[in-house]
Amino acid sequence: MTHHDAALLAALADATEDLIVFDLDGIEARHESLLEELPGVDVRFAMKACPLDEVISCLALKGAGVDAASPDEIAQAIAAGVPPERIHYGNPVKSDRNIADAHRLGVRDYATDSTEDVAAIALHAPGVRVFCRLATDGYGALWGLSDKFGCSAGDAVRVLRAARDAGLIPSGLSVHVGSQQMTTEAWQRAFDDLTDVLEVLAGHGIALDHVNLGGGLPALGYLDRHGEPFAPSLDKMFAAMREGMERCAQVPGHRLRFVVEPGRHLVADHGAVRAHVARLSTRTGADGEPRRWLYLSAGKFNGLYEMDDVRYPLVFPTRPSGPLVPVTVAGPTCDSADTQAPGHVLVPEGLASGDPVWVLSSGAYAISYQSRGFNGIKPLPHICVRGEGG
Ligand SMILES: *Cc1c(COP(=O)(O)O)cnc(C)c1O
Repeated sequence: MTHHDAALLAALADATEDLIVFDLDGIEARHESLLEELPGVDVRFAMKACPLDEVISCLALKGAGVDAASPDEIAQAIAAGVPPERIHYGNPVKSDRNIADAHRLGVRDYATDSTEDVAAIALHAPGVRVFCRLATDGYGALWGLSDKFGCSAGDAVRVLRAARDAGLIPSGLSVHVGSQQMTTEAWQRAFDDLTDVLEVLAGHGIALDHVNLGGGLPALGYLDRHGEPFAPSLDKMFAAMREGMERCAQVPGHRLRFVVEPGRHLVADHGAVRAHVARLSTRTGADGEPRRWLYLSAGKFNGLYEMDDVRYPLVFPTRPSGPLVPVTVAGPTCDSADTQAPGHVLVPEGLASGDPVWVLSSGAYAISYQSRGFNGIKPLPHICVRGEGG
């Protein structure tokens, strides 16, 4: 439980109802260590990973901005204290109206990946800065973000030239290596692509001022299907990023700053869900095999959307000892997708309905992936705590 803050665990222990807890000191500490590992980078927190005012404000006070994906996210960030010049509109998918709204709110940095989008930006947000997202293949990530976003190196040159011709400022390149990226190779490949495109752009007289390295940095507290820690070597990853930034900076013709847009990495391990046991039961399924299932009060539709892709550490504070049994964990709804990948999570045999369960390292995307009332189950309330006595 080394990744989990004392304040977080104390708040979980105090909770008598289901909720999500975030430890703001932990989030700030993760932000600070990121800045130590990648000196000089600008942090734009990908707010979809935890769109809470408290979290956005505390990071803004530390100098971070946000990566926002819609005018409503932009408005929320501004209200939470983020200056518009520190807000990137990082979503290449936006309507004319979205662009006009963002422009009215004062945002000057826009992601793009097509000439159609560039034409719309030129019309509805004239003169702003655009950065072009390069496609990545999702290699090494738990969730690749490959098909829907980004363009080829050749397209990137066309897109940024089109931006210049349309009176926009071609200002940068961006990548996203996929969420919960587990390898250093993916970063190295991304930097190979970035340096190639930077060289071609310089040849076209396009001088950029930033490279946006996107998100993808991992949570550290997840488990693999065997219950072992599931985290890459952050040290190696940061070393590959520093080396890659150095390579980009050496391409002549640009004066680059570097931006990172961490989402998961900042909040996953510093948020946790307090749920409770609905039932531990044994059923003989259609195949005639008896299996144990642990049904929890929270699942895919209220906070644990990623439960079939990652295994969170589970703590059963009222059953610290006793025999363990293998189960598949599932949420409370009548949707069979509300289930983790069939697993053999070991849980106390004596679990009873109502026993509290702490789902650790579940802070990333837990707020944004809440359904309104699937089967009448309400979104989980949240609290934010601080290290010393809240
Ligand atoms: C979602 C997203 C991020 C954050 O990704 P993580 O894997 O959570 O770090 C960063 N940038 C963009 C453009 C995104 O869409």
